[in-house]
Amino acid sequence: MTPLIDPFARAISYLRVSVTDRCDFRCTYCMSEHMTFLPKADLLSLEELDRLCTAFIRMGVQKLRITGGEPLVRKGILTFFEAMSRHLQTGALKELTLTTNGSQLTKFAEPLAALGIRRINVSLDTLDPEKFAHITRWGRLPQVLDGIKAAKAAGLRVKINAVALKGFNEDELFPLLDWCAREDQDLTFIEVMPMGEDMADTLRLDQYWPLKDLRARVAERFTLTDLTERTGGPARYVRIEETGQKLGFITPLTHNFCESCNRVRLTCTGQLYMCLGQEDMADLRAPLRATPDDAVVEDAIRAAIARKPKGHDFDYTRQHVKGQMTRHMSHTGG
Ligand code: SAM
Repeated sequence: MTPLIDPFARAISYLRVSVTDRCDFRCTYCMSEHMTFLPKADLLSLEELDRLCTAFIRMGVQKLRITGGEPLVRKGILTFFEAMSRHLQTGALKELTLTTNGSQLTKFAEPLAALGIRRINVSLDTLDPEKFAHITRWGRLPQVLDGIKAAKAAGLRVKINAVALKGFNEDELFPLLDWCAREDQDLTFIEVMPMGEDMADTLRLDQYWPLKDLRARVAERFTLTDLTERTGGPARYVRIEETGQKLGFITPLTHNFCESCNRVRLTCTGQLYMCLGQEDMADLRAPLRATPDDAVVEDAIRAAIARKPKGHDFDYTRQHVKGQMTRHMSHTGG
């Protein structure tokens, strides 16, 4: 099968799949407290997700990241991971992984590890129980820390993702770094993205903490060496020479990685977003439901990839971005 190559000669090897819009947390920068979730009929069934992901893997996707909402609250999710693990066994898929808030890991870490998952990302913005309860609204820190412990006991490598929020976890920059060094886990900061008008009340503009400022603060104390490692995504990494730690910076909408972009994102309703910073998407659910013929689905995927733009040039510090920001992000896993 001819691999998926976009018009700018980039091979599409990474698919990020949101399996649900639901979450057991209500992080203030991500969801409003009273979310209306999608009707079940709109969601892809686990079988449909399997068909679609399998088509992508046939067409050259080698890395699959499962996300949400919170992926581990989707009913029957282990069945789906089990189904995807068959592609690890054949070697078609090089990595199956997930991004989780960690709340369900005491239950799922072992079975996930048994299915061939090796590394996971856990989102955690603070180590202070009160602040954690405040920012996640419904989350409890000990539950997540227990989940991380269970993941490690099961042999999973954990990377912590923390959203950088001015006035919220600024004072925890070094405590978070120290904790991750002690626990032998990598740490990546994510620059906060404005999520649209409905979030205007919860995410204040003065919470925006540019990662270049965060980095400068780390550099006042430590020697940072840029790593050439590239994931094809919006992350950049440095090594902290004094501790040997790897520290990542995700600036999702900065125009600095498009030329090497290798990824697309699928929502839980089967919409394929070809670019993190643009609204253009292709509906894959209609062809999927119209026929059991996978050739039709493959054609739809190819047609979508042919529309993948060269890049985006959002500068999301600009005012006008507010409200037009990609609402799909909450459905595609941030
Ligand atoms: N529930 C899972 C989790 O907590 O990791 C997966 C979905 S969550 C939407 C994925 C990532 O997006 C998390 O690390 C979360 O912190 C991040 N995220 C959500 N809203 C964001 C925003 N407004 N700006 C930056 N990152 C955000």
